[in-house]
Amino acid sequence: MSIPDQVLRLDQLDTEIEQTESAVSGARRRRLRNPELDAAEARVARLRENERAAALQLRRLESELTDVEAKIKHGNTRMYSGQIVDPRELGSLERELANYASKRDELEQQVLEAMEQAEAFAEEVAASDAGARETRTRWEAERPSLERQESELAQRLTLLKAEREGALAGVSPQTASMYARLRANSGHAVSVVRNGVCQWCRVNIPQKDVQHARAGALVSCSNCERILYVGS
Ligand SMILES: [Zn+2]
Repeated sequence: MSIPDQVLRLDQLDTEIEQTESAVSGARRRRLRNPELDAAEARVARLRENERAAALQLRRLESELTDVEAKIKHGNTRMYSGQIVDPRELGSLERELANYASKRDELEQQVLEAMEQAEAFAEEVAASDAGARETRTRWEAERPSLERQESELAQRLTLLKAEREGALAGVSPQTASMYARLRANSGHAVSVVRNGVCQWCRVNIPQKDVQHARAGALVSCSNCERILYVGS
């Protein structure tokens, strides 16, 4: 294999290794975490919080209502006990009772509304929770296939790395270090020459360089420095 063939193969292998590595970590991420499920479960937690707050509010209103009802009962007992004879005192008690009555009506209305609100939240929680469970079940059912995918990719990666080791063993240390430097600096170490033009940077390559590269020598593009590969 000529030097340009060797470095082209290395370049292709390294690119494939990078892509496979990223595919492996993508598959691992999908196996370990499901953003859709996380969002669904976070939503259920938020809705449960609303549900708890609504239940608390309902209890608070009910206890206020019980309080007002007790005051009305007490006021009525006093009113009809015959113990209050002062008309001014009676008038003031009457006004007090009227205030309590309107407060009670208001609270009864609020309790009804709070009940409806709490029911609505409970329904919302139940629906979201069912949705989240479904998402979890689906994800868990997919897990074996996600695991398989990940392990297949990992196997592929092992093979590619072994192949890379072999390819690297075939090149001279000088070529290897040049290749590594170019690869690290610019992502790709090799550029294909077509019709005398470097396909990476579009610069014309002198004819003698094209010939050398075609003959299997290590020739760099004078502009982008990549190793030139002249296809047959
Ligand atoms: Zn170039």
